[in-house]
Amino acid sequence: MSDLPLVTRFAPSPNGHLHLGHALSAIVAHDIAKAANGRFLMRIEDIDGPRSHPELADEFRRDLEWLGLEWEEVPAQSTRLDSYAEAASDLVERGLLYPCTCTRKEIASLPKRTGADGIEFPGSCRDKCDGAAGEGAALRIDVERALAEVGEIVWVDEKIGSVVADPRALGDVVIMRKDLPASYNLAVTLDDAADGVTLVTRGEDLLETTHIHRVLQELLKLPVPTWHHHELVLDEDGEKLAKRRGSPPLSDRRKAGEDGLVLAEQVRLRNFELGT
Ligand code: GLU
Repeated sequence: MSDLPLVTRFAPSPNGHLHLGHALSAIVAHDIAKAANGRFLMRIEDIDGPRSHPELADEFRRDLEWLGLEWEEVPAQSTRLDSYAEAASDLVERGLLYPCTCTRKEIASLPKRTGADGIEFPGSCRDKCDGAAGEGAALRIDVERALAEVGEIVWVDEKIGSVVADPRALGDVVIMRKDLPASYNLAVTLDDAADGVTLVTRGEDLLETTHIHRVLQELLKLPVPTWHHHELVLDEDGEKLAKRRGSPPLSDRRKAGEDGLVLAEQVRLRNFELGT
């Protein structure tokens, strides 16, 4: 066991209101940190271009307060673009990223490949894009090359144990978007390291991305946290709660006078109605 204080975080994107799924994420991260006398951080992940509405960050703060949570807020992602650009140029210099000018549609139409374990993963456009560069190009990671460089590495989830990092299921993900000097995968990895996060808690829906985060940590010589992927709040059809259906925004419930502390207890006990 290390003597470092446990540090968790809640990292919402201001592209829609928070719902019960976010309440669960925030409460899990908060409670684990508090139980260990650690620190619970909130980081606003506002690098989603036009989908990002910075004014929602204030609403998020009020929602968390209403749920009875206490946190330390660290700088939002939009203030950290230089660190993303620096890391990306390091990876470019090492030949680990390649420019890609494909549209989403073109990518979707690429042939699928089958991995050794039978999983299908998106074919890469590496060959087609060879030589594309400059304006209008995104930067993708050459996953095979990255894996050859890092060798076999593992990541540890508190609930599922030790997992060999194999990011091939997601293919050569974008590390630098064409419209932004960042991407979710690069930014979240750098920020968790910069913020001293020792336990990354988030929903199981993001588990697949942890493989590439672990590889990026190794490539960029970042400290390696532990993970805790929690189950999701599902709607009555067993689907993940989406901002557009299933559960009213927390802010609506707060404004309607509902008791946030009672809701937080129900979330802890997973004993709540989704509402309409
Ligand atoms: N910003 C991401 C989201 O709102 C969460 C990122 C993470 O927890 O790793 O879905």
